[in-house]
Amino acid sequence: MQFEYDDQNIFAKILRGEIPNNTVYENDHALAFHDIQPQAPVHVLVIPKGAYVSLDHFARDASAAEQAGFMQAVAEVCRITDVSDGFRAICNTRSHGVQDVPHYHMHIIGGKQLGRMLQ
Ligand code: C5P
Repeated sequence: MQFEYDDQNIFAKILRGEIPNNTVYENDHALAFHDIQPQAPVHVLVIPKGAYVSLDHFARDASAAEQAGFMQAVAEVCRITDVSDGFRAICNTRSHGVQDVPHYHMHIIGGKQLGRMLQ
């Protein structure tokens, strides 16, 4: 599969500092920030700093250091937001997955009892 990255997407602009964000955690390979339209008391997006459009693109092409840095950011978000009672991690992907922003991101959603399924 060919992955085409559009560097005008809104998360690319956030990474370049062109649009503000409410940062939760940052390292060399990833940025985590509060979603502007939270669906729960905790709703954080974790994004890689590299140009990846989706989870499958990132899983296939990101280096071991990038993947480790991303997962470290996930761990730090879970610690900082104290989702010790649990959370949901979601990576909407392309049209069937209803992905709006074409830069890979993981939603970390929690801070309340969630339903069994999301729509
Ligand atoms: O997974 P999907 O692409 O549909 O979700 C994109 C998410 O990015 C939405 O939850 C939206 O609220 C969030 N967003 C944001 N800050 C922006 C633009 C979008 O947190 N500036």
